[in-house]
Amino acid sequence: MSDCLFCKIVKGEIPAEIVAENDHALAFRDINPQASTHVLVIPKVHIASTQDLNNENVDALSHMALLANEISDAEKIKDSGYRWVINTGDDGGQTVFHIHLHLLGGRQLNWPPG
Ligand code: 5GP
Ligand code: ZN
Repeated sequence: MSDCLFCKIVKGEIPAEIVAENDHALAFRDINPQASTHVLVIPKVHIASTQDLNNENVDALSHMALLANEISDAEKIKDSGYRWVINTGDDGGQTVFHIHLHLLGGRQLNWPPG
């Protein structure tokens, strides 16, 4: 999608602090971090939200998951723990409509979330 912020990051048209990637997913630091590790993991193809997953594109989630695991290892938070978050829609707090997994760690995270 030409007007999608995260598609522009995938294409290198907008700078981001990239931390890792594989053939199908890209990970970069959130511009407004909520924990010492706050990385966004996205598919390289445009999928707007969890509601747009289907039989053809659902593998993107697996590639995102494996990349997130690589990062939690590299960031040394895999033993202390961390949280994966995918916000969907207005009530979910989604502000960028290109599906993304927030990887948050490095501090005690509260539950339930606000
Ligand atoms: P959402 O609220 O949709 O779940 O999360 C969107 C996230 O994208 C937010 O945490 C926000 O800080 C982050 N974000 C928004 N614009 C940019 C940007 O241009 N670069 C980066 N790295 N993160 C962004
Ligand atoms: Zn996009």
